[in-house]
Amino acid sequence: MDTRVIDGVALARRLREAIRERAAELAKRGRTPGLVAIRVGDDPASKVYVSTKMRVSVEVGIYSEHVELGADATEEELLRRIQALNAEPRIHGILVQLPLPKHIATDRILEAIAPEKDVDGFHPCNVGLLATGQPRFVPCTPAGVMAMLETEGIALDGREAVIIGRSNIVGKPMALLLLQKGATVTICHSRTQDLSSHTRRADIVVAAVGRPHLVGAGMVKPGAVVIDVGINRLSDGRLVGDVAFQSMLGKVACVTPVPGGVGPMTVTMLMANTVRAAELASRAA
Ligand code: NAD
Repeated sequence: MDTRVIDGVALARRLREAIRERAAELAKRGRTPGLVAIRVGDDPASKVYVSTKMRVSVEVGIYSEHVELGADATEEELLRRIQALNAEPRIHGILVQLPLPKHIATDRILEAIAPEKDVDGFHPCNVGLLATGQPRFVPCTPAGVMAMLETEGIALDGREAVIIGRSNIVGKPMALLLLQKGATVTICHSRTQDLSSHTRRADIVVAAVGRPHLVGAGMVKPGAVVIDVGINRLSDGRLVGDVAFQSMLGKVACVTPVPGGVGPMTVTMLMANTVRAAELASRAA
């Protein structure tokens, strides 16, 4: 079987073009979309993610600011920053880069972001809207996966989807989105017994765990669609996913590479959510 490698970079580039046009349309009316990313502490991966988000914001015509707080910043300080940004009309999107240092309660922080500026889609209000089938801001990674599946013309209705990982950021919203498209969805996680027995019957496998090469060719059925969300840094410095990519070639219908698969789509969806937040704010004004 010829395996199609889904090119997340090329797809993200195409989508960013359309986002840039929407941002330009808003700018013409004096309503340039604005995004603020807040990062607390020195997590090296978070630094890379935020700087990528800032760079892409500029590329698509979104005004962006990066707030960097020291690892000793207090929860109250972070809450005060968020409240000020909630009231700032030039800012339409606020994201707090996770993970936060342990002394800060992540839930409390995410709940402090105004739901209409919550472009990561993590506020309980936006989670509820997604769960009830009226999405406003869909979390960026699962939104990016859905955009990939749609552009690749992959049918979901009535098909068997298995997601590995049950986080609030990826696994759970991914399950809701696939469910809404008519898939029969199973969520596997760290306590799942016999993972392969689930993944082997899946038409679509989404791996979002954070374990290099967890999913090998023996765990998927021939002709499946395999989406690799995982990002793992090996001791030799290489970046790999949760899927043993090479082993999939010739066996599955489609697979996403790491890097160059889901990652660029995630950033793109953040831009789409920010432009949407600015459009909604402009309509409400
Ligand atoms: P997380 O640590 O919050 O969740 C991991 C999940 O994997 C948990 O639900 C856990 O139950 C499950 N799990 C752990 N070991 C398992 C095992 N042996 N078998 C089955 N399930 C197991 O992580 P997350 O935030 O959901 O991220 C998952 C991965 O995706 C990470 O590698 C992360 O870096 C990556 N990620 C990538 C993007 C992107 O844009 N590509 C975005 C977000 C996260």
